[in-house]
Amino acid sequence: MQASSNENSIGLSQDDLTFDAKHIWHPYNSVTRRLPIFPVASASGVRLTLTDGRELVDGMSSWWSTIHGYNHPELNAAIARQTQNMAHVMFGGLTHQPAIELAKKLVAMTPEGLSTVFFADSGSVSVEVAIKMAIQYWRSLGNTRKKRLLTVRNGYHGDTLGAMAVCDPVNGMHSLFRGMLLEHVFVEAPQCRYGDTWEERYLDEFTDAIRGNHEDLVAVILEPVVQGAGGMRFYSPEYLRRVKELCREFGVLLILDEIATGFGRTGTLFACEQAGVTPDIMCLGKALTGGYMTLAATLCTDEVSHTISDNGVFMHGPTFMANPLACSVAGASLDILNRGEWQSQVKGIEVALKEELQQLAELSTVADVRVLGAIGVVEMKEPVDMQTVQPMFVEEGIWVRPFGKLVYVMPPYIMSREDLALLGQGMRNVVRRL
Ligand SMILES: *Cc1c(COP(=O)(O)O)cnc(C)c1O
Repeated sequence: MQASSNENSIGLSQDDLTFDAKHIWHPYNSVTRRLPIFPVASASGVRLTLTDGRELVDGMSSWWSTIHGYNHPELNAAIARQTQNMAHVMFGGLTHQPAIELAKKLVAMTPEGLSTVFFADSGSVSVEVAIKMAIQYWRSLGNTRKKRLLTVRNGYHGDTLGAMAVCDPVNGMHSLFRGMLLEHVFVEAPQCRYGDTWEERYLDEFTDAIRGNHEDLVAVILEPVVQGAGGMRFYSPEYLRRVKELCREFGVLLILDEIATGFGRTGTLFACEQAGVTPDIMCLGKALTGGYMTLAATLCTDEVSHTISDNGVFMHGPTFMANPLACSVAGASLDILNRGEWQSQVKGIEVALKEELQQLAELSTVADVRVLGAIGVVEMKEPVDMQTVQPMFVEEGIWVRPFGKLVYVMPPYIMSREDLALLGQGMRNVVRRL
């Protein structure tokens, strides 16, 4: 089975690739001046096999989601089993075991107090849902004045219009969509780096902003501890702890976007645990299904869900909400996590990435090297040219996809020390040539 399906894919013709180039829009890409695209035939464990037979050690976990690796027997079996039963039914007026089982696991593993689960189809949608929950919460209490969110620079919360409006105003391309996005309140990105000593001044701008605007704010939204696609920055959990206190003091909800950080990536199951903070609303996605299918979830406290519900219904309902295939594979992925091996795996990746990448800090072209959990970042002084750099990584036999000045990896948790060495060596070879 496996071999024959591989052969079929490896047989991808030049016509197919020409069709792709002419007719398929790839993410963050141009149809007429395309950045390089590589055809992949299959994926197993931590390796992608290209149609020309080359194997690449995957440093990206398919945008940080494939934490247990590709073609995982337990995840394959969960989907196959569910397919025999029902691939999908609407969630309006119906419920089913895969959704119930998954919600039980999510409520049990997320911080105490997050008790209600809303299933969404992607991370961006879960952020839209979180923002709508915060708005409806205040409307239910009769507050019609609060309309805005407070957030920090260098954030990333998704590509839909509502989520984009809380992304970094510069690299989130607000200028391109000026007049179309809600205008929220932004303060500087957290300046206290992870591991640095906390100083009160790090909170000054945030404190002023929440004090000055709280009557207009439905919520603060943040990525806890690690800012992902808006800059790959790691900041002090103390910042988060203080933000939570200020939210309580000024009567503003706290939304934590754990879409990138959730499910162990930073070394704790959820990054907010490092600050001992429970948000009012939490967004989960990316690794939720072990990278198998698109699924996200927005969790909230009883305070939020009951306040909205006592005054009406929550006005959201995607067509494919709580898709049973996605819920069943997510349930299986959480079972693997709940066995606990991820802790030593992530710790091991952290140690290995430090060993592999630290030496790059000496290069004059490199601004910073940082590692936290299973995240390794080499920040260059100048933006990298994707047109030239992407094929260089492939030549090295590794899959790494930088953005801006950031060359980074987020390997699957199962990656061996030997494969981490290959990944490290390939990254060093490419970065030294930049
Ligand atoms: C990826 C990401 C999103 C968006 O998720 P999609 O599934 O791509 O819509 C939102 N927030 C964070 C922190 C992310 O990393």
